[in-house]
Amino acid sequence: MIILKKEKMDQITLQRIKTLHPKIRKEALDLYLLINNKMLGKGVRLRFSYTFRTFQEQDELYNQGRSKPGKKVTNAKGGQSIHNYGLAFDIVILYDKNNDGIFEEASWDTKRDGDKDGIPDWLEVTKILIEAGYTNGFISNGKKWDLPHFQKDFGLSWKQMLTKINTGDFITENINGYNYKYINI
Ligand SMILES: [Zn+2]
Repeated sequence: MIILKKEKMDQITLQRIKTLHPKIRKEALDLYLLINNKMLGKGVRLRFSYTFRTFQEQDELYNQGRSKPGKKVTNAKGGQSIHNYGLAFDIVILYDKNNDGIFEEASWDTKRDGDKDGIPDWLEVTKILIEAGYTNGFISNGKKWDLPHFQKDFGLSWKQMLTKINTGDFITENINGYNYKYINI
């Protein structure tokens, strides 16, 4: 059983997990609690920087990258990212360097050992997510910018997921006034 320590939780992440696909929502929350309570020590905390992204948000992100050369954020348009179906999340590790309870630094450093347990924090986090069946974007395509990306796609491509949306093969859930669409799996 996981003992919940409130001070270990990132409230922003807890809110974001609520928008993940119902099929992985509970599991993602359990993993998040396990990682923060058991794996990461004092001054180190996990955040999900992105979970569900609407088609519109995805298009905005895609266009952002196109207006400034060399600043491409994503190759995926609305519907082409697993985030658009709530089946992906991106991670970042937060650090409270002076132990004042404020996690002032966000890091994607894969070597840093903030809790000084001899294992890089990034490795502790990614190992457990991969063991739980999540595919890491960096391992699957070797692109550095996909390093923080994890997904569980249940063997479906984004095209198959999009077809489900277009043919009405989904459920909706109203969360904080927004109607989220979740494909049937
Ligand atoms: Zn991602």
